[in-house]
Amino acid sequence: MSVSENWRQLQSKARAAAERAGRDPAAVRILAVSKTFPVDVVRDAYDSGLRTFGENYVQEALAKMDALPDDIEWHMIGHLQSNKARQVAGRFALIHSVDSVHLAAELQKHLGQRNQRQPILVQINVADEDTKSGFSPPEAANAIAEMSQFEHLDIRGLMTIGPVEEKPEDVRWVFVELRCLQEQLRKRFPDLRLRELSMGMTGDFEVAIEEGATIVRVGRAVFGERPAKV
Ligand SMILES: *Cc1c(COP(=O)(O)O)cnc(C)c1O
Repeated sequence: MSVSENWRQLQSKARAAAERAGRDPAAVRILAVSKTFPVDVVRDAYDSGLRTFGENYVQEALAKMDALPDDIEWHMIGHLQSNKARQVAGRFALIHSVDSVHLAAELQKHLGQRNQRQPILVQINVADEDTKSGFSPPEAANAIAEMSQFEHLDIRGLMTIGPVEEKPEDVRWVFVELRCLQEQLRKRFPDLRLRELSMGMTGDFEVAIEEGATIVRVGRAVFGERPAKV
């Protein structure tokens, strides 16, 4: 099936999920995760109207930015080594994967030198999986208190990667926990605008939308199975 057909189906499923939960479908954005797909595939998606893409790997993302039109909104969703902060600072519409205060401090340093402000999300490891990075829910408040001192970072909300489960219902609790954490943090930090909840992927985006996702990160349901990492 073509990307544009996949996209149409995805949008109608997302709309239905929002309506089931009594939410405004316009409050949910679908981020097309294009990692490991070649530039030509992303260009075809662009030609069929997609404008927001998520990437995991810095070099690959920067190469695609250079090769593709400027009106694309690029999001960084992959784990970042702190030594990549210089290359990514100020280059992405949103960095979803800020998972340490050290990384935030490095971003702050490079953004300061360029006098830029960078929207970010704070990654939370809700299910406490060893294979995933992110703050544990109890750590989040202290981390955000520290990061909120970095005036070049604009903390917009939270992101999580759910565990891989056969049934999307088995991931629901993770999305519920992230939403509850967001509510607590909004009370604790009324001056921050922690509006965004980036959660849900191909296997579970409908459940995530029912539980309040404002951004779902969807790769395979847009582009098909991924080629191996290049
Ligand atoms: C690859 C990836 C996705 C997309 O996964 P799909 O299962 O293809 O939808 C979403 N979020 C992150 C952080 C990813 O690395």
